[in-house]
Amino acid sequence: MSKKIDGVVFLCFDPREEANLWKNVKGELILPSQRFHPVGQLGTAVVLAMPAYFPVKFAAIMEDTRFALEEFARGNFILIGHDCGIYKLLKTQKPTTLIQKVQDTISGAKCLQEHFPNIPISVWFKKTFSLEDEVLNKYNRLPSTRSFQQIYTSR
Ligand SMILES: [Zn+2]
Repeated sequence: MSKKIDGVVFLCFDPREEANLWKNVKGELILPSQRFHPVGQLGTAVVLAMPAYFPVKFAAIMEDTRFALEEFARGNFILIGHDCGIYKLLKTQKPTTLIQKVQDTISGAKCLQEHFPNIPISVWFKKTFSLEDEVLNKYNRLPSTRSFQQIYTSR
């Protein structure tokens, strides 16, 4: 294979979300001329934020990413967070707030940056009814018509 595709999208592979997440990512965050490869597990952004809690899932994501970068994908990352069901697996006492999930997604991005330094990353969170105001207030971003709110970028 000669020409590499444009990059890698990290997203949750929960079947209740994955089809729509991927469709919306392709329709809204990737140009029609671009090709990105989806990499993930159930709860991908959460796994990246808490690798010690999910060592097997984390290792699989790292292995797939290294392989993609070596073989067929250029170094451009998009990380997608959402109101993820995997938090049910965490034995936390208090409920996890949306803003905590947003912050975890950013932690996941920092983890990717540690393991793959110098690769640009753009991080988006799937909007929910209550999320946008919280995120807009905290991160002072402009509203957008996309299904996702940008919460972090290395650029
Ligand atoms: Zn999820």
